Amino acid sequence: MVLDTATLRVAFGLMALLLGVLFYIFVYRTTRAPYSGWWCVALALFLTGALSFLLDGTPFQRWTNPMGHVLLVSGAVSVWSSARTLRRSPPGPLMFAAAPAATLVACAVDSPATNTWAGGPVFLASMALMFGLATREMWPAGPAYTRVRIPMTASVGLVSVFYTARLIAFLTDGPGGPTFEVFFGSAITTMITMVLLVVVSFSMSGLISEQQTRALRMVATRDDLTGLLNRKAFLDLATELLGDRAVARGAGALILADLDHFKAVNDTHGHAAGDLALQAFADACRDTVRSADLVGRYGGEEFVLLIPGASAGRADEFAEEVSRRLAQVPTVGGLEMPTVSYGVALYDAGTSDVEDLIAAADGALYKAKSLGRNRTVHSDPQG
Ligand code: GH3
Ligand code: MG
Ligand code: MG
Repeated sequence: MVLDTATLRVAFGLMALLLGVLFYIFVYRTTRAPYSGWWCVALALFLTGALSFLLDGTPFQRWTNPMGHVLLVSGAVSVWSSARTLRRSPPGPLMFAAAPAATLVACAVDSPATNTWAGGPVFLASMALMFGLATREMWPAGPAYTRVRIPMTASVGLVSVFYTARLIAFLTDGPGGPTFEVFFGSAITTMITMVLLVVVSFSMSGLISEQQTRALRMVATRDDLTGLLNRKAFLDLATELLGDRAVARGAGALILADLDHFKAVNDTHGHAAGDLALQAFADACRDTVRSADLVGRYGGEEFVLLIPGASAGRADEFAEEVSRRLAQVPTVGGLEMPTVSYGVALYDAGTSDVEDLIAAADGALYKAKSLGRNRTVHSDPQG
């Protein structure tokens, strides 16, 4: 079977066009994610670059071959830009233009009118380098890494390796040599690039829907004033944690906290000042908890904390520390931070019902209020 390069290029162009249009409409326009925007740019450049080579062998090749090389390298730079925006800013204009400019100069000084492969080594090296840089940016790292990235990273990495091998074959065998023709000719390259376009386009839309799901879950589980877990998310996570003995280490404390005379804060300083006090309390909790602890807004000016492994003494220290941090918040416009009452219920390996635990802590909290507020009371283990 002989693969006709011109036909493959037309097929490639058609596929890049369709992918580009579909990707633009269904992914970029709805999400505006920078990496998907750069991917649209890359698809457009690969499309026009591939079509430029259709005039190879005609008198126009003097212009169209260098243009094709520059467009393809610019496409590879756009893939790198897309990968960079996964984690940071895209490259600046100078960084973007460097490889295409070098390719253009190399083509121009290498008699493009007669030499189909004018500027070949610089073109191949630029492609290998840009795909290599893109792979490095996509390489799994950090908490944002997800499985969706694996096929994308693998295909971009493979293309970089392919272009490196192609460069070596070009330098050792020459563009007319048998190794280059059989393994690294234009037909094979076009097919490999087709695979790249399909894999990356699908991976990127997968990545985007995954990020949207995560953002939605974040909104659904957070209290929007304080950013703490909302009541439902706290109850779900606490139930899960109590079920997991390895994490709970069999025992711990649940603390219910209620700001004292909070209604007076609202009445005296206004609702906005009340909101500030709630946020200050949330910050004090966040600064005190460890990563294994759960902290949520139970409702209004009531908060709930689950501290696996905490003893009665540790729960007292914890409450003291939160109150100390809250009291240290500077007063704004005469607003002093309210004091806080805490109800503590300890749990052990036999406890599985969060609601029971909260009811016990609530009883203790009620007692703390009736004893004069600004204190911590423990629930009666027998009660
Ligand atoms: P106690 O010491 O007995 O707890 O008295 P309290 O005034 O804190 O308790 P009470 O239940 O009488 O009042 C709670 C107040 O919290 C009433 C309500 O307007 C206010 N509140 C609830 N949610 C919010 C909120 O999101 N923002 C603000 N600013 N106030 C809130
Ligand atoms: Mg209160
Ligand atoms: Mg209350």
